[in-house]
Amino acid sequence: MNLPLGEPRFAALGLAYGQAVAALPLPDAQRLYFNAALADQIGLDPRWCQSPAALPLLTGNAAWPGQMPSASVYAGHQFGVWVSQLGDGRVLTLAEWRSPDGSPVELQLKGAGPTPYARGSDGRATLASSVRELLACEALHALGVPTTRALSLAGSSLSVQRDMLETAGVLGRTAPCFVRFGHFEFHARHGTPQQLALLADHVIEHHFPYLANQPPRQRHAAWLAEVVELTAALFAHWQTLGFCHGVLNTDNLSVLGLTLDYGPYGFMERFRPHHVCNASDHEGRYAYTAQPAIGRWNCERLLDACAGLLAPQPETASHLAQALLARYDEVYRQEVMRRWRAKLGLRDARAGDAGLLNRWLTLLQRGKADFTLAFRRLADAIQTDPAEALICLPAGQDAVLRDWLNDWRTRLASEGGLPAGRASAMRRVNPRYVLRNHLAQAAIEGAQRGSSVELHRLLAVLARPFDEQPGAEHYATPPAQGLELEIGCSA
Ligand code: AMP
Ligand code: MG
Ligand code: MG
Repeated sequence: MNLPLGEPRFAALGLAYGQAVAALPLPDAQRLYFNAALADQIGLDPRWCQSPAALPLLTGNAAWPGQMPSASVYAGHQFGVWVSQLGDGRVLTLAEWRSPDGSPVELQLKGAGPTPYARGSDGRATLASSVRELLACEALHALGVPTTRALSLAGSSLSVQRDMLETAGVLGRTAPCFVRFGHFEFHARHGTPQQLALLADHVIEHHFPYLANQPPRQRHAAWLAEVVELTAALFAHWQTLGFCHGVLNTDNLSVLGLTLDYGPYGFMERFRPHHVCNASDHEGRYAYTAQPAIGRWNCERLLDACAGLLAPQPETASHLAQALLARYDEVYRQEVMRRWRAKLGLRDARAGDAGLLNRWLTLLQRGKADFTLAFRRLADAIQTDPAEALICLPAGQDAVLRDWLNDWRTRLASEGGLPAGRASAMRRVNPRYVLRNHLAQAAIEGAQRGSSVELHRLLAVLARPFDEQPGAEHYATPPAQGLELEIGCSA
């Protein structure tokens, strides 16, 4: 098969941006997963990808013809602290090309050995963390959330030392590009203004081409506005799905507004605004309720880094940056309310909507309700009256729920429309199936035994998150209270 060879892009920017690095071989590479639908979409022949010839390329055991793997340098704010040099420590870009529909594709391997940016670490990824990334990005994609994608997964006989000895894995992943806020922070701190502008123009040319034909200041300001808006919209989407990223450092934020770098993420189960999915995040910096403000804070860091692109005078740049941050607030507010309203089955925007939502969320919290299931069941409650079945509230509080249901039904009725249509619209935005940690764990344990059966079964369910799937009840069931899995930063 002829592999697609596009214009080399990021890798061609030059030595200031990254370095060529060869992958380390993966002993006894074993194919555990291959995403044929994604392959087709990005212009790889799915039959070739599933043939024995492809496995060495997707594990680092053979080089991609005509392209040299490379790792890029970035910096970032990690848990609020400036780190002046980071980079792809265990990620290699193998190839870049254009998909049949003309959009850019970048293919990376994660866990194929250390790079000059590995800072003493082994450049490997555990099979467990690779399975978690694969599951999460495919689950979010099926939910309609912008994300990087998983193309392939291989297991190996190789062990890596973490808290304990673990099996290594190599994940093949794709995105239009993997440029992070941290790339701009690095070049702002260590490079020349020209270097920073070259990176911005590279991103604009390939990923925001409709902005390219403007004078530099306008172009850069328009691009930053897009990044800020995409970020606000992404965070709004996460909030309404109960998705917690877990490590929202600036080096994990995509300039395309994609969900990127999955570690100790989690879909919130029992609703708690202060839920922290990352067991290593002791301060709760990245708690569920803190995410939108962190998105804004991260945009502020990007705008600091790009101040020189906005205006030569710091005061003018700062003024423009403030306007862009106000844009973040505005887009976030609009997007999050649009999505919450749809989840509640409301069609029109009205003044009391936020109050109605907040009363519902308070009920979820008091009843320790499962976030996903409570919203899903609400669709059934449009006509019938299963208040008790909806949320299990502490004794004496059922009346509060009944009041809320009355107000909500009155509000729905005042919009007109057929209840059945309303209910099915709600089921199209309130998933029945999300990636729960204990489900991921079962898939991981299978993969560690060399079986991808559970991984594939789970992926098939998560690919249709809004459909009732007979026989898949188990995948919609939260773990018993107190048995939720804690996930920390070991990767
Ligand atoms: P993360 O917390 O996964 O976003 O990683 C933060 C930084 O550490 C990134 O620059 C990674 O490339 C790097 N890193 C994490 N784990 C490893 C590893 N095992 N080997 C090399 N670099 C790593
Ligand atoms: Mg990262
Ligand atoms: Mg990472």
